[in-house]
Amino acid sequence: MWKTILITCLLAYLPFVIYQRITRSKPRPIKITEKLNEDYDYIVVGAGAAGAAVANRLSEDATKTVLLLEAGKDDALVPGLHTPSSSLSFWANTDVGWLYKTEPQKKACLSTNNQECHVCVGKVLGGSTSVNGMVYNRGSPHDFDRWEEMGAKGWSYKDVLPYFIKAENNRNPRLASTALHGDSGPVFVSDSNATDLRDTFVQAGEELGFRRGDVNGDSPEDTFMHMQATVRDGVRWNTASAYLRPAQKRPNLHILTEAHVTKVVFAGKRAIGVIYKRGGESYTVRSEKEIILSAGGIGSAHLLMLSGVGPRKHLEDLGINVVADLPVGQSLQNHMMLFGPDYIFKDEPHGINPETFGALSTRMSYYLFQSGLLSSTLIDGNALFRVPHQPKEDKFPHLQILFLPFLYGMSDDLREIYMNTVNLKREVVEHLARDLVNVAGVEFMPLLLHPKKDGTLRLKSKSPGVPPVLDPNYLSHPDDVKTLIEGVRMSQKLANTKAFKDLGLKFLERAHPECVDRDFDSDEYWECYVRHLAVSTHHQSCTCRMGAADDPKAVVDPQLRVRGITALRVADASVMPMVVSATTQATCTMIGEKAADIIKEGK
Ligand SMILES: Cc1cc2nc3c(=O)[nH]c(=O)nc-3n(C[C@H](O)[C@H](O)[C@H](O)COP(=O)(O)OP(=O)(O)OC[C@H]3O[C@@H](n4cnc5c(N)ncnc54)[C@H](O)[C@@H]3O)c2cc1C
Repeated sequence: MWKTILITCLLAYLPFVIYQRITRSKPRPIKITEKLNEDYDYIVVGAGAAGAAVANRLSEDATKTVLLLEAGKDDALVPGLHTPSSSLSFWANTDVGWLYKTEPQKKACLSTNNQECHVCVGKVLGGSTSVNGMVYNRGSPHDFDRWEEMGAKGWSYKDVLPYFIKAENNRNPRLASTALHGDSGPVFVSDSNATDLRDTFVQAGEELGFRRGDVNGDSPEDTFMHMQATVRDGVRWNTASAYLRPAQKRPNLHILTEAHVTKVVFAGKRAIGVIYKRGGESYTVRSEKEIILSAGGIGSAHLLMLSGVGPRKHLEDLGINVVADLPVGQSLQNHMMLFGPDYIFKDEPHGINPETFGALSTRMSYYLFQSGLLSSTLIDGNALFRVPHQPKEDKFPHLQILFLPFLYGMSDDLREIYMNTVNLKREVVEHLARDLVNVAGVEFMPLLLHPKKDGTLRLKSKSPGVPPVLDPNYLSHPDDVKTLIEGVRMSQKLANTKAFKDLGLKFLERAHPECVDRDFDSDEYWECYVRHLAVSTHHQSCTCRMGAADDPKAVVDPQLRVRGITALRVADASVMPMVVSATTQATCTMIGEKAADIIKEGK
């Protein structure tokens, strides 16, 4: 009798659990305001890592009206976007992204079509945090101290740490209990455990004499850690969920999607409004107090130049009326990442292989319980290193390794996604991936954190619909190649540790087809490999650099005000004086949080 009652209760409860799981894994659409006011106190352009934070914090003051304009659609309308493991399939998806191609690179991206590397940016509520790899990594304290030395007064580590903490809601109790982490902010951060190999990775690091520690702590250099990611209960936690959904009911906050801002309007040197396009029509909306550009490392610089703020000669050549002559787009920085070399398990499979990835149990465990492989970013470990040839005064790391417990070539689907995302030539991918099909293995993906030379972003046309010209100048300094070769050597050392050897991991010896004339495994061989296969990481930054009043490279001052202009600020990746030694989303959100406080304090 009791048994029957218990089973009946469980059966009655099951649909409720399933309903809850399904609705929780899918955020609800955000309230959009179709009929806008004629003016607002603040207009924020771009709802990404920084812009969503700015709009939320400014609208905490119920006496101020805030309009947030976003070119993309509501993230809740995009199926699959919030499943962490599906990230890569959205990187080059133009339904939710701006997909840029660099100028043909002379010394890098040699295996891409036309030597043009792809550069991706999210175009959807949450911006790039809706499509990114979700890696949560803040940067080294030394990065921010360097920012201040470069003229960004008030942005040293001690100044920015409170904003990282304010934003963060770390679900790892051990980390959350330390003074360096937050446990009540809007951005959920959790351990993203794809496979048990995460422990092997950290053990391997320890075997080599590195620290097991916190890559977001106060000394992240030469440290190994499991992956932490912006994921909440198995769901991507972008800034739309962190900052916009909780604030959408505020009557003083209006959010409009599919509104592409094409120009900032000036009265003399004062920004007074913006023009945006929606559904083929142009509209103007005015601001009483300020406009904040948070359109990202590419978007904000592009918009400033279209509006007449940029290098005088360049704008005049295109027939644009100059409002302020500033070095917009002159200091473009980005990280680069290297796919491969590949390591395979010679006996038993470990990590992720097509069978485990596609298994019904894997899917069921995600759809019913939001757990298992699909709830993770698929990146299992993170390590940061200083390299021997980096300048002594750079105390921050120049090299990062992200540990992938799978091979990009393991299945037809993944190979296709990878090729399209990175713009690699089909014949190269097919050649390199042919030994990887249905094989289990891993990759230690090296990232170049501090390219020695800056790139540029320029206008191609004064028409807002034409993408800007990006020339990142990749691998134009020999040290950049050296750093990535250090990454390859580090991956070989890791694979040779007892921790990985015990699992039967071995280096897959096969040459890139364009590098067969070099001695395999020599530095000359790896230089060729790096120049062919290192690609953009989509951390584009520094195009509207922040700096002191006398800094000829600065576009904004340390209060993020565009120099020589009133009522216009930039708050996003573009204001970094130097790209941080980490993936960039956490820093961009910190910038948004701090920008809002600067504005509220009336500085
Ligand atoms: C594919 C990819 C993978 C990444 N992986 C990671 C990772 O794993 N970890 C990590 O830390 N970082 C990662 N990043 C980087 C990180 O997401 C970005 O650095 C960060 O989101 C940038 O924040 P932002 O506020 O500057 O701009 P974004 O987050 O890019 O937001 C800019 C917003 O402005 C909108 N916009 C642009 N122009 C206009 C306009 N004219 N009018 C209206 N709206 C406009 C865009 O549509 C977008 O929504 C990744 C980025 C990408 C693209």
